[in-house]
Amino acid sequence: MERKIPLARPDITEEEIEAVVEVLRSGVLSIGPRVQEFEERIKKFTGRRHAVAVNSGTSGLHLLIRAYGIGEGDEVITTSFSFVASANCILFERARPVFVDIDPSTYNLDVSLIEEKITPRTKAILPVDVFGHPVDMEAIMEIARRYGLVVIEDSCEAIGSKRRGKLAGTAGDAGVYAFYPNKQMTTAEGGVIVTDDDRVAELCRSMRSQGRAVTGTWLHHERLGYNYRMSKLHAALGVVQLKRLPEFIRRRQEVANRYRELLAGVEGVVLPAVAEDVEVMSWFVYVVRFLPPLNRDRIMEYLLSRGIECKPYFPPIHLQPFYRELGYREGDLPVTEEVARQTLALPFYNHLTREEQEYVAEEVKKAVSLC
Ligand SMILES: *Cc1c(COP(=O)(O)O)cnc(C)c1O
Repeated sequence: MERKIPLARPDITEEEIEAVVEVLRSGVLSIGPRVQEFEERIKKFTGRRHAVAVNSGTSGLHLLIRAYGIGEGDEVITTSFSFVASANCILFERARPVFVDIDPSTYNLDVSLIEEKITPRTKAILPVDVFGHPVDMEAIMEIARRYGLVVIEDSCEAIGSKRRGKLAGTAGDAGVYAFYPNKQMTTAEGGVIVTDDDRVAELCRSMRSQGRAVTGTWLHHERLGYNYRMSKLHAALGVVQLKRLPEFIRRRQEVANRYRELLAGVEGVVLPAVAEDVEVMSWFVYVVRFLPPLNRDRIMEYLLSRGIECKPYFPPIHLQPFYRELGYREGDLPVTEEVARQTLALPFYNHLTREEQEYVAEEVKKAVSLC
């Protein structure tokens, strides 16, 4: 059997190809009106006052940490069950990530554990909408207001998700979406910051372009900045993908429904849970959990040998080598660590066919009976 089913695959049509070619033909590749157009469309989509396009989700998170003045000696409460960038952005500015454990059902940070971690040094909460599942922002904002904390929502995996009438990324002080090719929509590399805060938006605009004043000249630099700009080429791709996002979300929901149907009732396999008050789930990945005595690593090896790409999303951030050097250790976050030993992301993309999904499901069942 020579099959190969990838974990993720972007959905690119002639329209995206033409949009990018048009930029190439224009002769102006980096700064141009397509970037503003992309930002305008993100503003409209989210209803936020500002959208600042950047060259990655990580850049967006980093700019927000700086814009809110978070630095040495400050603490930021976040989750360890995430992609490493959501905590690295805190380390970039020499602040300390303070990890709270996760809810074993949604895998989002457990809101009831936040308060006990708040100290006089706590500056912000940085929740992550993991795998596309929006966190309970109402509860987080209530705590943040009481303690005067900033909330930066890492919605890099959740563009379009909606909980209790609020889009992921729009309930906190600022949010970030990311557009790497495995995300729901892509700009190849890219991200965007959304906020209602005029001052923060202006700071981010300045810092993404070498600290230039937004209305200033090219070689005048008001503050320390970076080159975190999104190029016109990437923005052109983003404009088309954003337009198609509702279709992507619909398709991904169908693929998730089919997995639920095909994998229902397999002993020891826990399928992803969606909280009841989630109105739109914009699925990023489809992650299943194998309960002991099932062995996730052996199941993963078996599936890989059958041409089914799968990945252990996510190894805990606090157990990565350079985090251990900072003093984090095994045992700090028992639920995160247990869940992370058992979870596996299965192939998941818009055009995954029923036949491919049936093959994956059959092989998962075989793996479960063998491992
Ligand atoms: C994808 C992602 C990011 C940003 O990643 P980039 O590759 O920098 O765009 C940040 N946080 C989370 C949770 C992500 O999944």
